Amino acid sequence: MTQPDPAELADALLAGDRRGLARAITLVESTRDSDRAHAARLLDLLAERSASSTIRIGLTGTPGVGKSTLIESLGMHLLGLGHRVAVLAVDPTSSRNRGSILGDKTRMPTLSADDRAFIRPSPSGGSLGGVARRTGAVRDLCEAAGYDIVLIETVGVGQSEGAVAELVDAFCLLVAPGGGDELQGVKRGVLELADLVCVNKADGPTAQLAVGTAADYRGALHLVRPKWTGRPTTVLTASALERSGVTELWDALLAHLDALGPDVVGRQRGDQAVTAFDAEVRERLLGLALSGVDTERLAELGADVRSGDRS
Ligand code: GDP
Repeated sequence: MTQPDPAELADALLAGDRRGLARAITLVESTRDSDRAHAARLLDLLAERSASSTIRIGLTGTPGVGKSTLIESLGMHLLGLGHRVAVLAVDPTSSRNRGSILGDKTRMPTLSADDRAFIRPSPSGGSLGGVARRTGAVRDLCEAAGYDIVLIETVGVGQSEGAVAELVDAFCLLVAPGGGDELQGVKRGVLELADLVCVNKADGPTAQLAVGTAADYRGALHLVRPKWTGRPTTVLTASALERSGVTELWDALLAHLDALGPDVVGRQRGDQAVTAFDAEVRERLLGLALSGVDTERLAELGADVRSGDRS
């Protein structure tokens, strides 16, 4: 296949051409060395030319808590408000096909059928850092293509949440109604990352329990380091299935970003970009260093260390 021309791709993307976006994503997700320079050129071209305001939201929660149902409800609400929505995923395990694949379109049938939404599964393969970095690039492409809201989901099992928090303006933890045990299952570190906690399935027989769970979380949040000094994390309830509380959820996220103000949100994005840059530099340097290494000799040394023949 011929190499796509970065300038041509950038034009297609900025014109809102979905096929152009898909081709651009294929390029930035490629791990081939020959594609890397083209991808970097494309991203630079877009960085110069796209400036409109966008909102980046992260969403995590254990499997079955209702992430895709919520994204479907929230996404439709956002389209109703006149936004265009991209849904991305960070899941380094997706290639192993464990359970539901994040970003799978069949999980969000109504949203994925709408032209104003763009849903993309997690890039497969590679380390968490690599997957997150490529997702960050895909996020930038989606924004350039006119998707002004980007939702990034990840499974809340204690690995990828930190990586997603580094890609978004605000991070939402979705939890299920339950007793104290439920709360214990949520890692303290994840609570510390959350800007908002939403207790889902606040409907039918679990409606009351959800209210109690929300109170439990408010109590628990007092015990963790606040993410933003002087700003308690908002806890609310919703039913993604019945689409109640979804408007309130969005309004609470906007209110949070509003309270932080554009300067703080902009600084956070800058910090995140530098963190990603540092990680990229380290990875490339490590790659360069290792490329000159005698791997056979290294393996021999490793064997000696294993057997105790060498310290
Ligand atoms: P995910 O694995 O976190 O993406 O969870 P899903 O969105 O696939 O939802 C898992 C199950 O919970 C499905 O059977 C949903 O219909 C159900 N579910 C999701 N949200 C709600 C809700 O608000 N209320 C109720 N009662 N069920 C829900």
